[in-house]
Amino acid sequence: MVDRRIYSFGNGEAEGSASMGALLGGKGAGLQEMTRLGIPVPPGFTITTETCDEWTKAGQKVPEALLPELDQALERLERASGKTFGRGDNPLLVSVRSGAAVSMPGMMETVLNLGLNPDTATALGRKTGDARFVWDTYRRFVQMFSNVVANVPHEPFERALEAAKHAAKVKADTELPAAVLERVTQEFKDLYRKHKGAAFPDDPRAQLVAAIGAVFASYWGKKALEYRRIEKIEALLGTAVTIQAMVFGNTGPRSGTGVAFTRDPSTGDDHLYGEWLANAQGEDVVAGIRTPRPIAEMEAELPETYRALHEVKATLEEHYRDMQDVEFTWEEGKLYLLQTRRGKRTALAAVRVAADLLRLRKIDLREAVSRVEPRQLMQLLARVFDVKAIEQARKQGRVLAKGLPASPGAASGPVVFHPEDAEKAAAAGKPAILVRRMTSPEDIAGMNAACGLLTSVGGMTSHAAVVARGMGKCCIVGCAQLRIDEDENRFQVGERIVKKGDVVSIDGFTGEVFLGELPTQDSEIFEVVQGRRNAATSRVFQDVDLVLRAADGVRRLKVRANADTPQDARVARTLGAEGIGLVRTEHMFFAEDRILPMREMILADNVPARKAALEKLLPYQRDDFAGMFRAMAGLPVTIRLLDPPLHEFLPETDAIQRAVASRIGMDLTELKARVLEHHELNPMLGHRGCRLGVSHPEIYEMQARAVIEAACVVASEDVVVRPEIMVPFIGVAKELEILRKLIVDEAERVLKERGERIAYTVGTMIEIPRAAITADQIARHADFFSFGTNDLTQMTFGISRDDAEKAFLPDYEAKGILPENPFAVLDQDGVGGLVRIAVERGRMEKPKLKCGICGEHGGDPSSIAFCHKVGLDYVSCSPYRVPIARLAAARAALG
Ligand code: PEP
Ligand code: MG
Repeated sequence: MVDRRIYSFGNGEAEGSASMGALLGGKGAGLQEMTRLGIPVPPGFTITTETCDEWTKAGQKVPEALLPELDQALERLERASGKTFGRGDNPLLVSVRSGAAVSMPGMMETVLNLGLNPDTATALGRKTGDARFVWDTYRRFVQMFSNVVANVPHEPFERALEAAKHAAKVKADTELPAAVLERVTQEFKDLYRKHKGAAFPDDPRAQLVAAIGAVFASYWGKKALEYRRIEKIEALLGTAVTIQAMVFGNTGPRSGTGVAFTRDPSTGDDHLYGEWLANAQGEDVVAGIRTPRPIAEMEAELPETYRALHEVKATLEEHYRDMQDVEFTWEEGKLYLLQTRRGKRTALAAVRVAADLLRLRKIDLREAVSRVEPRQLMQLLARVFDVKAIEQARKQGRVLAKGLPASPGAASGPVVFHPEDAEKAAAAGKPAILVRRMTSPEDIAGMNAACGLLTSVGGMTSHAAVVARGMGKCCIVGCAQLRIDEDENRFQVGERIVKKGDVVSIDGFTGEVFLGELPTQDSEIFEVVQGRRNAATSRVFQDVDLVLRAADGVRRLKVRANADTPQDARVARTLGAEGIGLVRTEHMFFAEDRILPMREMILADNVPARKAALEKLLPYQRDDFAGMFRAMAGLPVTIRLLDPPLHEFLPETDAIQRAVASRIGMDLTELKARVLEHHELNPMLGHRGCRLGVSHPEIYEMQARAVIEAACVVASEDVVVRPEIMVPFIGVAKELEILRKLIVDEAERVLKERGERIAYTVGTMIEIPRAAITADQIARHADFFSFGTNDLTQMTFGISRDDAEKAFLPDYEAKGILPENPFAVLDQDGVGGLVRIAVERGRMEKPKLKCGICGEHGGDPSSIAFCHKVGLDYVSCSPYRVPIARLAAARAALG
């Protein structure tokens, strides 16, 4: 049973406070709080969200019990304002505004100037001596009430007003004389009668009760429902309704209305930022009929109001310790605040405001962390297109196609279709966008040389996508609308043909491909990380750094990076990585000089020949690993042994097969036959991962040797090395038992040969459901677990990622079968359930078992929160996501 429905405020007295947002809505609670702070607020009262709930449950009827409370509150408001509602010489007009616990800007309704009828209008005219003002106010009220409360459409009102302006030969509403406005008001009332078949209601109390119902109803209106669906706003009771004495911005040139942020919402700079209009009411600012003016221009014209606004800014910021977004009105120079709420802001502003307030010790570490969304950091890190340029390009119809946004960033340049052309462009210091149906290991140098990659085939883990993310390069994959003809150096989208040398722009955040050039810029942070800019000269770097240090002070999860090259490892370290969680060793074999011995090894038909080829690969691997150990001095480096099916390394086209055959001295027919032998129907479920290690122990032996030899080399340079050798794709404990022995035997042989003592560990990925379920058995042979949630998701859902993302996954999301792409955001119930089970069972066997995640989910904020909850020790993600993960881990710790 609800026992109280209304809370009043005004004249310095407040029955509620900021903490009552759930009951009074954001607006109501803000007005109560401002009243407490002594900020000038017109007196009023708020009807609770609980009452809205009652209204809804009673079949959309205003509860009887509200009415006596309403009358009491009105009396109280009359006393506070010194005016009387619906009668007397000094009539009280009120605004009726919506405001739920969560802000839904512009989604619900407002009625202003309520309480007018012929009597009160006459009284108001006598009191103010300003007929223009009275009739302007009255016509506004009739229009708003008709529209909001009685659902009469806007257009006939707009047309009538336009006609009146035309007849009076004026441009602005404010220029209409009183007599015309009086006629317009009457026309508006006639319009009401025409649409509703009844006279416009003149009883102010009936107006008020109807308006309250209409505001409640607007909570269930189409746009509000849609907004809540998109923003995932659930479990609210409804909207509160705030009824407040009107202050008038339309009494003449010394009155007006405006909106402002207490700081610049796009940069976070500490100055008032907003717009105002003289001689206007709130709806004029947003209606777009008159152009509002910037706050800075207020100083010269309205110095007192401007100063008062600055005082309010200081009071609000001191109190809320955050940037606020306010609505205000001034009547004959006297300022009133109508609303304050937390200001929405860009990534840059979010970080700057948090860092500023942290430096001033207005907020603590935890608060600073809670003020910045991890995703906002992402925006600050990547190479970006100019936002306005994008908007314009979309309007101009320059979007050619849309694919999967595989790696964030922005790139513009002439298209090329062959990797060599990208290399040539780079050598000439020119940008190039490499467009391929799909990429292969042969393309790596060209991919590296290109400023962006675009493919028509393949998903988020295709070769192009994985390599691009590793390189931190902008990439769009699976852009199926492109019909690419590499031989003819062109692609076609519908009727449009794009030829080699034509310029396109690709947006790795959205997957959009634009025709023509869009201006881009490196993020400043990126420039600092790359050593091209001094950290001390970059304010955004300093701000981000401060927020991230705050995060480090709060989080429990460690953050590592997935990196395959020393350069990536260094970037990761600069961005705060505390180790490497995954080195995918196979990427090292894609390089030009290594792919040949790799192919020789795979094509060998006997063990001695395979060992001879492996001998050639060993020094490369040793150098690679040594580079990683040096870059990560003192920090753990998890090296995963060979994982992908071997056919991925083999030459596919006839031309390359011929070249390889001649270079390794193999008969072409035999080579083709052996390539065919490696063909598998379901390679991802085939001969890959530890299964290769079991079939060809010499491969893993070589890799284990390379790891430990590299560790010895680097340790001899007085660098602390912490190698962790990781076996992929384990499904059965026995696999790990065998391979662990093999790895340890080889490692010990190396250490003995070298007379060294280096600590290393051997662990496994958990990426097959069977491994998760039997984690206790597997843990017996593992020093650590690392969840490979890319494969674990594929196997748990029985979905092939590359096939699904371009076929049915988008449809599944659209139909609500899956809330999100489970390859981007961890499916906590299913895949997460297996992770939870594996951690529990693994630690049953080994209580201190170290557990981490190295699937792509390790860089996704909500997945990181899950990792925190199930007690993982670390997350590992791509280098550029490390800052996001640091922040997300801290926010997870805050709960
Ligand atoms: C995984 O499966 O999550 C993983 C990290 O391995 P990869 O993506 O290389 O298969
Ligand atoms: Mg995997």
